[in-house]
Amino acid sequence: MITSSFDILKWANSSNIAIGAFNVYNFEGVKAVVEGAEQEGVPVIIQMHPASLERGSRSLIAMALEAARLSTVSISVHLDHIDRIASVSEGIDAGITSFMPDGSRYDYDENIEFTKLCAQEIRSIGGFVEGELGRLSGSEDNVTISDYQAFLTDPLLVDDYVSKARINALAICIGNIHGKYESEPNLDFPRLYKIRETTELPLVMHGASGLSDEMVSQCVRAGISKFNVNTELRQAYISGITEAVNHNITDLLSIMNLCVSKMRDMVVLKIRQYSLQ
Ligand SMILES: [Zn+2]
Repeated sequence: MITSSFDILKWANSSNIAIGAFNVYNFEGVKAVVEGAEQEGVPVIIQMHPASLERGSRSLIAMALEAARLSTVSISVHLDHIDRIASVSEGIDAGITSFMPDGSRYDYDENIEFTKLCAQEIRSIGGFVEGELGRLSGSEDNVTISDYQAFLTDPLLVDDYVSKARINALAICIGNIHGKYESEPNLDFPRLYKIRETTELPLVMHGASGLSDEMVSQCVRAGISKFNVNTELRQAYISGITEAVNHNITDLLSIMNLCVSKMRDMVVLKIRQYSLQ
């Protein structure tokens, strides 16, 4: 059933677990996320990045919303990394109520201004707003941010940012990166604990691909309620294609089913990881 990101994160909080928010690009992605969530019997968030919308447009949103409605578990549909205000109205028109206005490329005051403007429109329909304070390094959907530009979330700014930008969840940067970690992830847990002391809002971790079970559990215990999963799901899809090529599978439906099954396995693995106490 379709539900709001508010309700899903409230449920995660009361259950002391985190929610997987999975980026999708096509029908196979939507199907894999829904099937994985139904198999495990837990809520999930289906999310789309503007890059996937460039290809799938409103049809991709419509498909995700309908899949959420038809599902036996609670699912919300979220627009990830919105970088222009017009995307909010477009999303609302298409039926979306959950957004991440990404003002992290701006300086502090401009980030607040951009996020606040988006938040006003989102709140006018009772929608959910995720903001980001700090900036992630790495790359996501062809957006590469050099390490020198990256900076971590300053716990001393959290209270001010949250109240001025009027958000409902906070994406934090504590050494997490978008994309693939080239070396062992090095998360700044003392920083996370300080952020948690400052705000009771649900905390979100982007760039959670490649984190060990132990690290994820530590994040959940420290207050992370939502993990974004993009890279690993894309890799699962590509491994399905590769396997099909290597085994000379030429039937399109068989290839699609293989990709769905690879992605579903990844969704299940992540859901279990986020449910570890
Ligand atoms: Zn992200």
